[in-house]
Amino acid sequence: MKVVLIEGDGIGPEVTAAACRVVRAAGVDIDWVRADAGLGAAERYGEPLPEQTLDLIKHHRVALKGPCTTPVGKGFRSINVRLRQGLDLYASLRPVRTLPGIKTPFEAVDLIVVRENTEGLYAGLEHQVVPGVVESLRVITRTAADRIVRFAFEQARHSDRHLVTFCHKADVMRLSDGLFLECARAVADEYPFIRFDEKPIDNVCMELALDPTKFDVLVMENLFGDVISDLCAGLVGGLGVVPGANLGTRYAVFEAVHGSAPDIAGKGLANPIAVVRSAAMLLDHVGERAAAARVERAVARTLEAKVGLTRDLGGDGNTASITDQLVKNLGS
Ligand code: NAD
Repeated sequence: MKVVLIEGDGIGPEVTAAACRVVRAAGVDIDWVRADAGLGAAERYGEPLPEQTLDLIKHHRVALKGPCTTPVGKGFRSINVRLRQGLDLYASLRPVRTLPGIKTPFEAVDLIVVRENTEGLYAGLEHQVVPGVVESLRVITRTAADRIVRFAFEQARHSDRHLVTFCHKADVMRLSDGLFLECARAVADEYPFIRFDEKPIDNVCMELALDPTKFDVLVMENLFGDVISDLCAGLVGGLGVVPGANLGTRYAVFEAVHGSAPDIAGKGLANPIAVVRSAAMLLDHVGERAAAARVERAVARTLEAKVGLTRDLGGDGNTASITDQLVKNLGS
């Protein structure tokens, strides 16, 4: 099986190498097709997301991606936004679950953050009106609102979940979130066996901090989703452990929630678990369910045993030692 591999930059090459090693040890023979993106690509091609990379994903359909830094102040648009828009990866899916061995204020968190990935403020449609005045466009379309809420309900249906919460700010952004909310209510009406709730995003933040266990599937606009994803990662152990997928109707790109972590890049200190778990989501996506479950079990055993863990997890190990443990804990 051929799958595109974008190492990215910063800690990207370190954590993706660890993920490839774990996947191989789990018994899945993937022929990784390397594609370039990030700071290195910007230097080599004058373009942080070269067209060849998009073409390779279009050809092979599925990719595992490390984090990429978009050079700031050099006129480049965000690589991740362009990737998501260019491949119409309209849904970001981030499962957030309490993990064994990680001490957090809450037990039994088990929720999914579904984020619209192509529109809203995060799309970065900005311009200068006159010097000193800039404008950002928050585009919401019925088509995109409808399909992301439908995606959230389908996720709920297929993963035995019973509550979808739509997060919005429709009282202030009456037109844009007003339309989104109207679409969400219409889609919810088609799923009478799944409970639907609608809450202002600020309210959701407070309730997540008080008791995240009462949420099940959360669905929201792009920028809200960016913020909530990191908040939810913090509830279960931080950016180093939460996986993610960007999904469309034709293509799928799996990547961690975290960025390129320039502060620890190249030091061998990065926690690879988020990318390893993103690779497990990829395995599930391509039908390698048993291997995906094996990788998830290895992660749980590694965290429980507390041997070789990286510093963000309270250990004194590094990327190599935690990867050794993950491979060992795959079992036979
Ligand atoms: P970041 O996620 O890179 O880092 C935030 C903090 O978390 C840092 O202290 C970092 O050391 C730590 N951290 C992150 N991942 C870790 C891991 N796997 N193991 C241990 N510690 C980890 O966020 P940032 O500093 O805001 O962003 C840095 C760069 O990454 C920016 O250029 C940003 O645009 C980019 N970014 C890329 C993606 C992506 O490619 N999907 C996502 C977010 C940010």
